[in-house]
Amino acid sequence: MIVVLKTGCGDAEIQEVTGRLAQEGFKVHLSQGVEKTIIGAIGDRSRLEALDLEALPWVEKVVPILAPYKLVSREFHPSNSIIKIGQHEIGGSEVHVMAGPCAVESRAQIIETAHAVKEAGATFLRGGAFKPRTSPYAFQGLAEEGLRYMAEAREETGLYVVTEVMDVRDVELVAEYADILQIGARNMQNFFLLKQLAKINKPVLLKRGPSATLEEWLMAAEYIMDGGNYQVMFCERGIRTFETYTRNTLDLSMVPSLRALSHLPVIVDPSHGTGRWNLVHPMAKAALAAGADGVIVEVHPQPEKAVSDGKQSLTIPNFNLMMQDLARLTTVLDRNLKGVDG
Ligand code: PEP
Ligand code: MN
Repeated sequence: MIVVLKTGCGDAEIQEVTGRLAQEGFKVHLSQGVEKTIIGAIGDRSRLEALDLEALPWVEKVVPILAPYKLVSREFHPSNSIIKIGQHEIGGSEVHVMAGPCAVESRAQIIETAHAVKEAGATFLRGGAFKPRTSPYAFQGLAEEGLRYMAEAREETGLYVVTEVMDVRDVELVAEYADILQIGARNMQNFFLLKQLAKINKPVLLKRGPSATLEEWLMAAEYIMDGGNYQVMFCERGIRTFETYTRNTLDLSMVPSLRALSHLPVIVDPSHGTGRWNLVHPMAKAALAAGADGVIVEVHPQPEKAVSDGKQSLTIPNFNLMMQDLARLTTVLDRNLKGVDG
């Protein structure tokens, strides 16, 4: 439920309400807008009735959150949540491009790609060290060695690192190296993994499961927030449909839908969302036009030699072309393409 305070409330009044709620075992989250102060409270509703907050003269109203997701909902936190990573902010006016290979294949490959995407204006380096492959015989990733190369690439370029964690047992290890931990589509409802991510103090990029509904996806984010980690962003990466021309169907209607229902940032992955490199650039533009806070794209110096997802990986020259186009587009959208604009 949310407690809306009357305009002009001071700190003492706010503390009185948050204090009472905390004493009754509520999880409290304060949102201070210019006009209104809203206190989100998760806990036993019957105890709230006993507190009778509406009797306080500075409380305007107490409203229940009817949706099953609470902390994730826009009612709980009416303004957009902004996730800060170094000098970057995701979820505000900045737009970020996260780029790199599907998998970290070697030190040389990730360092070369990192320099190239940084030069073009990316702000984050992507690359999997633990790979969720359909076949057990396919390349499974370089594990910690790959994480070390990613960290080295960060040192050299200043790019922040986003990489996938697949196993509860690796969360601490990946968190040591990564700036954003990615939960892959196949693990969106791995609740043990989500609960483990709730315990770390690092942002999480939560990809949409290949057949997940919007509500299931929001509930997955709720697991992470409920455990105490509020730094969650969504990543639309396409869903399984009857269409076979594309690898997945990139559901861009999720961008404004998530924006309407939640306060958390939204990123789009047009690489896995289409499976075809020539569709990545137009769908990245569409994603930003739909209101995404950024895109995550696969880039490889030699896509034809990539150990995974070469067909959907941009060459470095094609990534440069896309970045030039996105820079023009973000100007029209009145947003700031970080890495290009400053
Ligand atoms: C990836 O980003 O490399 C990946 C495996 O993505 P997804 O989980 O969306 O398939
Ligand atoms: Mn991939």
